[in-house]
Amino acid sequence: MLTNNLGYPRIGSNRELKKACEQYWSGKSTLQNLEQVAREIRKQNWLLQQEAGIDLIPSNDFSFYDQVLDMSLTVGAIPSRYHEVILNGAHKEIDLYFAMARGYQKDGLDIIAMEMTKWFDTNYHYIVPEFYKDQQFKLFSTKIADEYEEAKRLGLFTKPVILGPITYLLLGKEKEAGFHRISLIKNLLPVYIQLLQQLSARNVEWVQFDEPFLAMDLTEDEKRAFLMVYKEIRRLFPNLKLMVATYFEGLRDNLELAFSLPVQAIHVDLVRCPEQLEAVFEVIPSQMKLSIGVVDGRNIWKADYEQALKLINSAVEKLGEERVILAPSCSLIHSPCDLSLETANEPLMDEIKQWLSFAKQKVTEVVTLSKLVNPHKNESLEAKLQQNIEENNSRRSSVLIHQTAVQQRVAAATAKDSLRNLPFDDRKVLQQQSLQLPLFPTTTIGSFPQTPEVRSWRTKLKKGLLSAAVYQDLIEKETIATIRFQEEIGLDVLVHGEFERNDMVEYFGEKLDGFAFTKFGWVQSYGSRCVKPPIIFGDVYRQEPMTVKWASFAQSLTPKLVKGMLTGPVTILQWSFVRNDQPRAQTCKQIAFAIRDEVADLEKAGIKIIQIDEPAIREGLPLRKADWENYLQWAVNAFKISASGVQDSTQIHTHMCYSEFNDIIQHIANMDADVITIECSRSQMELLDAFAAFNYPNEIGPGVYDIHSPRVPSSKEMMFLLEKARAVIPDAQLWVNPDCGLKTRHWEETKSALIEMVKAAKTLRVAVKTEISIA
Ligand code: GLN
Ligand code: ZN
Repeated sequence: MLTNNLGYPRIGSNRELKKACEQYWSGKSTLQNLEQVAREIRKQNWLLQQEAGIDLIPSNDFSFYDQVLDMSLTVGAIPSRYHEVILNGAHKEIDLYFAMARGYQKDGLDIIAMEMTKWFDTNYHYIVPEFYKDQQFKLFSTKIADEYEEAKRLGLFTKPVILGPITYLLLGKEKEAGFHRISLIKNLLPVYIQLLQQLSARNVEWVQFDEPFLAMDLTEDEKRAFLMVYKEIRRLFPNLKLMVATYFEGLRDNLELAFSLPVQAIHVDLVRCPEQLEAVFEVIPSQMKLSIGVVDGRNIWKADYEQALKLINSAVEKLGEERVILAPSCSLIHSPCDLSLETANEPLMDEIKQWLSFAKQKVTEVVTLSKLVNPHKNESLEAKLQQNIEENNSRRSSVLIHQTAVQQRVAAATAKDSLRNLPFDDRKVLQQQSLQLPLFPTTTIGSFPQTPEVRSWRTKLKKGLLSAAVYQDLIEKETIATIRFQEEIGLDVLVHGEFERNDMVEYFGEKLDGFAFTKFGWVQSYGSRCVKPPIIFGDVYRQEPMTVKWASFAQSLTPKLVKGMLTGPVTILQWSFVRNDQPRAQTCKQIAFAIRDEVADLEKAGIKIIQIDEPAIREGLPLRKADWENYLQWAVNAFKISASGVQDSTQIHTHMCYSEFNDIIQHIANMDADVITIECSRSQMELLDAFAAFNYPNEIGPGVYDIHSPRVPSSKEMMFLLEKARAVIPDAQLWVNPDCGLKTRHWEETKSALIEMVKAAKTLRVAVKTEISIA
């Protein structure tokens, strides 16, 4: 039985890649340096998998920023606005690549970045390919072959991982009307063929094509394209072993399609959808191999060997050992790197560590499972199995996990818990009376720059190099300065700046019971940005206020309104590793009640505007439409539970980013937040159309500039976007704000951009007054 891995984390177990990229971007290190770090990470990953005993080791799973962007560069899908970067001869391929990811402001050029969006239902973001009618592609980069060669020099024969052509096209976006991107397949396929020629010339044995779209809802055209592409590849490369990898969902109605593709192996995700195995047996052709994902690549729980072995044994029985390949469910880039780094002496972590497994451990789990299938397994293997059974049992029965009071409160929830007293129209009147805001009120999304200095204070505090009192003092000073700055530039609704927070989910997780934390459990979120998701291992509850102190402190500094800032229950759930021993909806409801208590305490402390961020509500959508209704029902309800415990005069905001709202606008309206701020600027207000078409009743702040790029837009540019917004949203409903929190930005650009933003709002107020008086 072969063992297989679909992809390994490329950030390095100490986030080496992040550091190297950021140094390169800031001009503090050379390209050579960056490449050296990258080579070292790849080498370590490959050797580690080889040592563990993985047979099919991936290559081209490395990326400096994103694997979809890699593919865009590889097939030459480079939007024309970047051609100047190429023409500007001084620049190398990598600078073009980073320009596409991050925008480019250099040598008099000022080019915006490509859009970014969530990778399926994960918290990984990819750079969205841009497509044009009749677009031509051409092999532009040799990365895939280069990485294969690099591994070969280390004595390894890897399995290149390539984003499949259909999935690549479907992940992209048409930038002009009049065509569907899938029609570009005829132009794209020849480039994939050239690519495969490079690989087959190197005697590559296996190639993995990632086609997770096979697990999504597909149109007839898309299905036909799948068949056409793989038949053609098969015809031209009869000797290349092709594995088509699907993950994140079951194949369902695409099952027959997937197994009719003329390839050597299909990979299926048996963690998400173990039920599909029986159906697979019905349709799998007699020569085809089956790669089964039985170790969860998306979560941190140790595999349950007994359960996995049931699936493996049934596959072996039906197909024979020769045809079964064992793997994690999906690429391990969604797992942290290495549990063995967690050596801190923390009682809680020590206790729950025995239930966990990260990428490095998961690779070993796959190999161990492949050995456990052997009926003549030796004693040490038998012991490993026994140990796994005991560890999983200890988790099921642990007193750390079960809190009766929490379970009872959630069970007793009624419909009233998710309703405000009055409807929005009536609340709006009360809120206007209480808040007295101008037309086009200006605000920000919450965080202000988390400078290296601010972050160093927290690091020092944790290391004991800074006393709690000194830390407190430093954060206070930063907060004061930020309040002063906001007053100075004339923002209407201020924020405290979130300097005390490392991360919008981790901060709350640290204060809530039922959460545990790692020291090194980093996972890539986008580009060089990594997150360290908390682990929800048990029933969740709040022992004491979590944010009241900072909100009140900030409010005490200014007569202006300060907005309280919380993370919503769905986002906390979505951005954590969630326990897999009860339904997610149940865990989410527990968090919702904890946030509800916090909202009530903020109100009591005199905070009149409270924002409950739910940037992740859309990414939580199940991949298949058939499952949406059920999810939206409990997710929206959880938000409402958290938001509905307040007076009608208290204004509840929510914030969402990187979302396409069209298909869930009804549910967003159902959340009934008084104000919603959304990401809109990268799509030039396109996202607003959904709100306009729907006649969205509540107030709305479409982001007027992109905070993901260091670029400072002019007030004119923002005015232009605001005019676009005004064309579809009534003035009385419009807010003016950036499109997300500012914590990843530097102060310099933040200051300039916000000054421009306030200027845009003020100019607009004057213009509207004139409009009215003329009328
Ligand atoms: N309040 C958060 C911040 O400003 C929101 C972040 C987000 O939407 N991801 O950082
Ligand atoms: Zn955001």
